[in-house]
Amino acid sequence: MTITTNWHTHTFRCKHASGDVEDYCRAALTQGLTTLGFSDHTPLPDRRWNSVRMEMEQLRDYTDAIDEAREAFPDLRVVKGLECEYVPEFTGVYRDIFRGEYEMDYLAGGAHWYPYDGEWVGLYGPDMTPAMLAAYADYIVECIASGLFAYIAHPDLFGNAYYVWDGEARACSRAILSAAAAAGVPLEFNAYGLRKPLTDTPTGPRHGYPWLPFWELAADYDVRVLVNSDAHRPQDVAGKVEEAADIVREFGLNIILDPLVAADDA
Ligand SMILES: [Zn+2]
Ligand SMILES: [Zn+2]
Repeated sequence: MTITTNWHTHTFRCKHASGDVEDYCRAALTQGLTTLGFSDHTPLPDRRWNSVRMEMEQLRDYTDAIDEAREAFPDLRVVKGLECEYVPEFTGVYRDIFRGEYEMDYLAGGAHWYPYDGEWVGLYGPDMTPAMLAAYADYIVECIASGLFAYIAHPDLFGNAYYVWDGEARACSRAILSAAAAAGVPLEFNAYGLRKPLTDTPTGPRHGYPWLPFWELAADYDVRVLVNSDAHRPQDVAGKVEEAADIVREFGLNIILDPLVAADDA
């Protein structure tokens, strides 16, 4: 199976990507995709972490751009979504404003921060201790259980800040994998990580994510895996997705192309 879909696409609005909806659509057709899901970084009502996300005031412009692209690119299935930090107190905003008022087709749960000891800690931030890793796992499990998200983006992003594959890493991964299997929520294998430089770790250089032992362990669970490019530039709209899919297949995992189709109907 060739990867003909990408459900993880950003635009210039998040302040760290380039190109607008139509540029990604054009690139998607050139690169052989048939479905393109937009999942720019969600704004939050209190403007939290807003240096890497759009403003609430830009939501209408974003959804208008997607609606226009649906007309302009009839050969491409264009899907409307947001990549969300899961902040439990904003559950009503995700449901009523994003899914409701702005008619998002889906929300992706993507954690770049996690709550630990009363604070939010960044996954590109300080090295994680086992206690921090456990807090991250609890948070992702909650995120899955919330029922808000069509898939979980880069669940193995903790590999950025936790370096050794040990008992704690296995326990954290098992918690996430079993929650995803129980809830039927797909997990994303993120090809952006494959396009980034390697990180030095005590056991040698590797990608911060995808962290391959996580995916090796995933074979023990009935999880569905979505391969996405996590494009931040139009030319990367299908960047390294085939290479990513080869890795996922080697682990014997179940690749899906549409997270909006329930497991039973696939
Ligand atoms: Zn981003
Ligand atoms: Zn992203």
